Amino acid sequence: MIEIVDYLHEKREEMVQVLKGITKMESPSYEKHLVDKCGEKLILFFKQYLDGHIEVFEESVFGNQFRIELGEGEEQILILGHLDTVWPKGTLKQMPFGIVGDKVFGPGVFDMKGGLVQGIFALHALQTLQVPMKKKVVFLVTTDEEIGSSHSRKLIEKEAKASSYVLVLEPAATIKGNLKTARKGVGAFQLKITGQAAHAGIEPEKGISAIQELAKQILYLHDLTDFQKGTTVNVGIIHGGMATNVIAANAEAELDVRIRQPEELKRVIPLIEGLKPSQEGLSIEVSGGVTRPPMEKTSEIEAIFFKAKEIAKTYLGLELEDQLSGGGSDGSITAQYAPTLDGLGAVGDGAHAEHEHIIISQMPVRSALLALLVKELGN
Ligand SMILES: [Zn+2]
Repeated sequence: MIEIVDYLHEKREEMVQVLKGITKMESPSYEKHLVDKCGEKLILFFKQYLDGHIEVFEESVFGNQFRIELGEGEEQILILGHLDTVWPKGTLKQMPFGIVGDKVFGPGVFDMKGGLVQGIFALHALQTLQVPMKKKVVFLVTTDEEIGSSHSRKLIEKEAKASSYVLVLEPAATIKGNLKTARKGVGAFQLKITGQAAHAGIEPEKGISAIQELAKQILYLHDLTDFQKGTTVNVGIIHGGMATNVIAANAEAELDVRIRQPEELKRVIPLIEGLKPSQEGLSIEVSGGVTRPPMEKTSEIEAIFFKAKEIAKTYLGLELEDQLSGGGSDGSITAQYAPTLDGLGAVGDGAHAEHEHIIISQMPVRSALLALLVKELGN
């Protein structure tokens, strides 16, 4: 066990170099060409560090997804990560890859290229040190996580159904390295309201304002929020109208819904989907839906967390904690099918923010945590 920890500490510099290799290649979710190039680079690292069978799933719209399968066994452990980042093409110019003290900066290092690197080295350590395993390990890398996983969902579900456990390389929840054992569900909806245009000065009585209607609907939607239950509805974007002297015929809104309790899904979602106009002559069109269901902390999830906690204490001298995350991830999808532990990736700060960075000295530590957890769950 200590061997694994020591081995990974020796690999620290190499880990930073691999991170540099895949961070210097941008991979915005919508830029297939760039994501594929970055994916090819990552596959080269897979080949360099891991002995397994690599499979690439060609995608027409987003980047190709890929997986590597290691070892043998009837049961499998799934390690899940995504290669895409929220950062648009050209971000490296303002936010270059760089090292300052114990921190490494760059687009996507925290969410989640650092986690991918730690994953590779964790498995590399297990293979190099010939740690016996009864289960096989599948490492799946997807490319549309940051935009809702519409293309990778089937693949993620298929692998999750075939797995006894799923370990997700999303960033740690806090700088102390907290893991994520529950996540809020996430929904995204769009509203389109159509009313009746009219001149606001000459014949305003002939108009029906879509903006006025939207205002009413926004109040109604925000009132669906129930902080105690962990449910929030937020209209974050609105558009509408044509000119100040025109009764607006059109108005649009985009909203974000977060739900902690599955029962709240049944309360809130039908209300949003079934929005009714407050008077005749208006129509409301609702599109969108739930992109990720809530991930509940089940007793099975708690059990894996306790294993991780024990490993962290015994071999890494760490007090590991867990918590709820308000954000969704692909772990929310896999948790519907197999016990899932999330937030096992890099320790750092600034996901989706300009100060995005990870802590270099934590890379071998987190990699060792993952390796020891895979070893424990795999036997
Ligand atoms: Zn992520």
